[in-house]
Amino acid sequence: MTRSISILGATGSIGASTLDLIRSDREAWDVKALTANCSAKELAALAIEFGAEIAVVCDETCLPELREALSGTSVKAGGGAQALCEAAASGADVTVAAIVGCAGLAPVMAAVEQGGTIALANKEALVSAGDILIQAVKRYGATLLPTDSEHNAIFQCLAGNDLANVRSITLTASGGPFREWSHEQLARATREQALKHPNWDMGAKITVDSATMMNKGLELIEAWHLFPVGLDRLRIVVHPQSVVHSMVEYRDGSTLAQLGPSDMRVPIASCLAWPDRMDTNCEPLDLPRLGTLSFFEPDEERFPATRLARQAAEAGGSAPAVLSAANEVAVAGFLEGQLAFTEISAISARMLEQELPLAPTTMEEVLAVDAEARQRAGEMLETA
Ligand code: NDP
Repeated sequence: MTRSISILGATGSIGASTLDLIRSDREAWDVKALTANCSAKELAALAIEFGAEIAVVCDETCLPELREALSGTSVKAGGGAQALCEAAASGADVTVAAIVGCAGLAPVMAAVEQGGTIALANKEALVSAGDILIQAVKRYGATLLPTDSEHNAIFQCLAGNDLANVRSITLTASGGPFREWSHEQLARATREQALKHPNWDMGAKITVDSATMMNKGLELIEAWHLFPVGLDRLRIVVHPQSVVHSMVEYRDGSTLAQLGPSDMRVPIASCLAWPDRMDTNCEPLDLPRLGTLSFFEPDEERFPATRLARQAAEAGGSAPAVLSAANEVAVAGFLEGQLAFTEISAISARMLEQELPLAPTTMEEVLAVDAEARQRAGEMLETA
């Protein structure tokens, strides 16, 4: 049976992994919408290859380039935030939400309002607007499948079990490229060093987030919304091999873990085929070759991001949205050479110390909090 699919953020790392899976079973999928921010040529090439109905760039200034690249084909071209939301609401059976940052929130919400299945990789949307998004999923009868490898692992380990039976949930973290670095070394870490993740090949923002451990902090808040067992039952453990993707401990003392290669095609395939399974050509796990799996407590002195995320979740209201926005601005500043590596978390910490905006109750209010936090974090960046 053919199913329709739209991919928001098709030109990114998650987009590429998703399209790779679709390429291996072309007959099974009818591609409706593919989107990007401004990678017009790459987007057009993908839209032509996959016979998409529509390709949309969010940045309207890139629309002429997209139009030109699609001229003479049957693929429609769109541009701008409104067109992006319309593409997200194209009524696909499955929408893969893989835009990076809070920019993905409005399109995710547009997809949720169609009531289909959303494979959610865009963790920042859930961090900034968790309650609002989860309520919308219920209201519109949508199905939200966690695509982030840790949350997909937890989802698989829960497999229909009652959350009341869960004693704890443990998110694993690779620890990133700087796991063993001293504070002095961290202060001098360069962009190139931060972008070299030991296990995963990902977009720039999430790779830096992995190096600061803010990725795990954002994932903690993500898990708190997806699996509401309470913050005190959510743990983080450093596991440098990235083989165990997360674990669920039940009240009888049984712990279920999900293992797999460090390849995002595995959790994406689990979402695309859910509740069934599909073939992938991912490298199988070879445990004897791996030999040892190790686990450590996170060091929140050198990597304060997970502590900040827990603090933001405990504070609730606008705090998670402020944290995520501040982090986006700080990571962009680091990537542009404006900020030292250790200043990324320092800016987020300073933002949480300021008076926070009122708790947002609608998506528009979340976007307003996000805009204000970006402006304030931008000012901090100027003086850093
Ligand atoms: P990438 O940076 O590789 O790709 C981001 C995608 O979003 C691109 O298609 C980009 O388009 C598009 N985009 C960027 N900014 C905007 C914007 N303002 N408006 C509309 N579209 C935009 O990111 P990843 O694929 O690595 O990550 C995507 C999301 O998935 C993130 O939230 C990340 O945390 C999450 N995730 C990623 C994992 C991974 O392995 N990569 C693992 C787990 C979660 P363009 O090419 O034009 O810039």
